[in-house]
Amino acid sequence: MSESTIQIALVLPDLLGTYGDFGNAVVLEKRMTWRGIKAEIVPINYGEPVPDSCDIYVVGGGEDTAQTLAVKHLREHPGLQRAVTKNAVVLGVCAGIQIFGESFTRADNVTHPGMGLIDSTSHAGGSRAIGEVLAEPADGLFEGVLSGFENHQGRTVLGPAARPLAHVKVGTGNDGSVEGAVQGRIVCTYLHGPVLPRNPQLADLLIEWATGTKVAPLDLPAVTAMRAERVRAAS
Ligand code: GLN
Repeated sequence: MSESTIQIALVLPDLLGTYGDFGNAVVLEKRMTWRGIKAEIVPINYGEPVPDSCDIYVVGGGEDTAQTLAVKHLREHPGLQRAVTKNAVVLGVCAGIQIFGESFTRADNVTHPGMGLIDSTSHAGGSRAIGEVLAEPADGLFEGVLSGFENHQGRTVLGPAARPLAHVKVGTGNDGSVEGAVQGRIVCTYLHGPVLPRNPQLADLLIEWATGTKVAPLDLPAVTAMRAERVRAAS
């Protein structure tokens, strides 16, 4: 294992961070630290330049106005886009999946350009999707059901270069059928909770991609119990 510190960029937590989505960065940092992998969180706030040197980028959810401001900043400071060309690992949640795509059309019917990181477009649905979600990971990407909480009006259509993260069993996800997107080392999801505390197997997949090392499971009974309780509640 390399001695270097894995840097986790927490992208625009002041704009994108509904439902404690910053917890995704905390979980990545803790799960690496507990295994002796040096890791640190690098917060990048609105108005600040976006470095292209981090190993993992974490983007959270936000409402339409916040995500429009965020995408403007991220297009003007394209450090995240440059990092993707250097193979960085990226997690985008809710507003994240929408701004990473080619474009998104808000509930006010105005279309905004996205960051063009994933082959997708998003548009406002007729109703908000709110509640617990269960989804089966696609292509055996990781073990166990994907579990989380959704609250969004947007719906997302994937193009051929993006594949679904999971197939919806309970809830809505992108469109009532598929949930999230994977393209290269970019993973997107509509799920909060936050999603990584709720799905440690997904957190470890991102850690394995970022470190290039297979990690052993962590035995955390509180996490197992919380996950089981949430899956039961949704079933
Ligand atoms: N503004 C988006 C929507 O409602 C994203 C919501 C969110 O990130 N919670 O679809």
